[in-house]
Amino acid sequence: MTQTRARADAGNPLAGFKVGREPYFRAIGNEVELYEAAYRTRMPVMLKGPTGCGKTRFVEHMAWKLNRPLITISCHEDMTASDLVGRYLLDAGGTVWHDGPLTLAVRHGAICYLDEIVEARQDTTVVIHSLTDDRRMLPLEKKNEVVQAHPDFQIVISYNPGYQSVLKDLKESTKQRFGAIGFSYPSPEIEAEIVMREAGVDRRAADTLVCIAKRSRNLKGQGLDEGASTRMLINAGLLIAGGIPIAEACQVAMVVPITDDPDLRDALTGAIAACI
Ligand code: ADP
Repeated sequence: MTQTRARADAGNPLAGFKVGREPYFRAIGNEVELYEAAYRTRMPVMLKGPTGCGKTRFVEHMAWKLNRPLITISCHEDMTASDLVGRYLLDAGGTVWHDGPLTLAVRHGAICYLDEIVEARQDTTVVIHSLTDDRRMLPLEKKNEVVQAHPDFQIVISYNPGYQSVLKDLKESTKQRFGAIGFSYPSPEIEAEIVMREAGVDRRAADTLVCIAKRSRNLKGQGLDEGASTRMLINAGLLIAGGIPIAEACQVAMVVPITDDPDLRDALTGAIAACI
């Protein structure tokens, strides 16, 4: 986790959301330039791609590069609009309004990253509509206030097209408000570089993990929803760096978490054996 919540600074409500050190991000294409162009116009951005392929790391890196605070919200189906915009809470002095994370970002000018937005219910996600067109404002109905977005505010969402279902998808009217930057698994060369850097393994181990990942990804649609992500390779690499033999590390990080099907486990075990 590279986003550090520093000690609260009474003068600046976003002080805790500054990205302190440069988060390592290995660009794959021109995603950095595309994002910078989008941020210049404060265009809402959708980071689109499978899980564990670098979307969160990318937004952390960009927030650092643009020197903007980053507020990350992990979306889930029980999330309500109040969880985003805020609510009145009772304290010793009576009821006091507390800005939610979205309002905080809108008011003070952070990048607000809604991770896995499709997990939230559609009646929750509509609160972002007035922020994602030229009105750039957020109505706080319970407080009877309309917050005009700070000039530096930008909204970013992540979206995994593989998880779409009729029940869980973004409304067309929501999708159309975003510019989308596509993410996918890096080339073997680059992925090995990332695994070496993040897990601290040597080239040979990284190449082996990438080879297994390729075979695992080929099983997508044949019982696997998704193959091994870069995140899983890094987890396997961390175990290897910690002294666990490679075959066992791969079972722990790349096989057991993703399937209980004996045939698929055999297929993945075969892929591991073929690459070692
Ligand atoms: P996502 O948000 O797409 O689910 P993450 O950004 O959390 O995935 O990526 C998972 C991990 O994979 C990161 O913590 C990072 O270690 C690594 N990673 C993936 N892609 C990259 C990249 N291009 N550069 C650096 N690290 C990466």
